[in-house]
Amino acid sequence: MPEAPTSDGRPDEALPSQPGLDTPSDAPHAPPYALQYPCGEAPAPGQVREIAPGVLWLRMPLPFALNHINLWAIADEDDQGPGWAIVDTGTKTAESLAAWRALIADDGPLAATPQGARITRILCTHMHPDHVGMAGWLARKFQCRLWMTRLEYLTCRTLVADTGREAPDDAIRFYRLAGWPEDAIDVYRARFGGFGKYLHALPDSFRRLSDGDSFTIGAHVWRVIVGRGHSPEHACLLCEDLDLLISGDQVLPRISSNVSVFPTEPDADPLADWLTSLAQLRAALGDQLLVLPAHGEPFRGLHARIDRLIGGHQIGLTRLRRSLAAGPKRAIDVFGALFARPIDGKGDLLGMATGESLAHINHLVARGEASCETGVKAATRLRCCNVPASRLRCWTRRWRGSRCSSTRC
Ligand SMILES: [Zn+2]
Repeated sequence: MPEAPTSDGRPDEALPSQPGLDTPSDAPHAPPYALQYPCGEAPAPGQVREIAPGVLWLRMPLPFALNHINLWAIADEDDQGPGWAIVDTGTKTAESLAAWRALIADDGPLAATPQGARITRILCTHMHPDHVGMAGWLARKFQCRLWMTRLEYLTCRTLVADTGREAPDDAIRFYRLAGWPEDAIDVYRARFGGFGKYLHALPDSFRRLSDGDSFTIGAHVWRVIVGRGHSPEHACLLCEDLDLLISGDQVLPRISSNVSVFPTEPDADPLADWLTSLAQLRAALGDQLLVLPAHGEPFRGLHARIDRLIGGHQIGLTRLRRSLAAGPKRAIDVFGALFARPIDGKGDLLGMATGESLAHINHLVARGEASCETGVKAATRLRCCNVPASRLRCWTRRWRGSRCSSTRC
């Protein structure tokens, strides 16, 4: 199994389901929670299943712990005739290539449809390799355009440009401050720059998708809704005619998407982006929509799922506050507060857990509930201040022998 694309510190998916974040003891009054999965079993790679008029469900294998991605084909037409608009494409692997060749074969499932085995355009929700990996191959094969948001396209090009570079000092410093041991740093150095090997070269130009854009695909209008936090400018696609939302990785039914801080922007607060985006989606979208996620099965229950995702992060933040109140912590010191499963190893899991821990830590810092100090054993440690004394005790004076600057301590 190839390594996951984490050598540049940008994993795709989350620690599966983060089971520690929504245990019953933490959420005793959580509402009943049941999503509906009306579409049944996923199609096998190389096969399709129609889940709405003119909308096909496709699935590709992934060589990672998260072992599949859903793609969607929408009946389309352009000046060359009928065809399919494809949403997301799979990772660049021999298995994805075989699946695509089966899909577009003369005797394959697409050829048997009124649109035939022709692709009119490729839309990618975001720039992670499982979504964009085969886009370049398809675009060249069918001489069609790639539609993507600008930040996703440009960020992807930037990450691909890291291929073959040495791990930068900024990144090494970032992970040392997070508490990584030197052997984990060595693994990071060895694997840095691997992002590009999971995708075919992107087309050199793209058609921009922007939040609020509406356009017609075949018989129906689709609207772009941008979400942030998992990736910089993630495009969801809404079709009100068909009551469908292609949610990409912005809302997943069974796992929570990775929300991480990366070395290129160590002070980022992606969790604020993520929580804001989810709240906006909940407010803007009806609960009756059939949600077509990139991983898992199509489902109904969008509002309940968003509530659960937001609630999981809020519980994680509460646990993090408690952990910081007990003493200063580095990123690796709060794994126990945020994740139920042990975080071991030096590669993917450590990188994801570190990024996600820093996302929660930076969020508390941005809210003024924690502060960050560098210099204690060369590590970044956090101290809590500005927290109601009824909830957290102030230990700052004990630790530093100095006065806490918060007026609330
Ligand atoms: Zn993703």
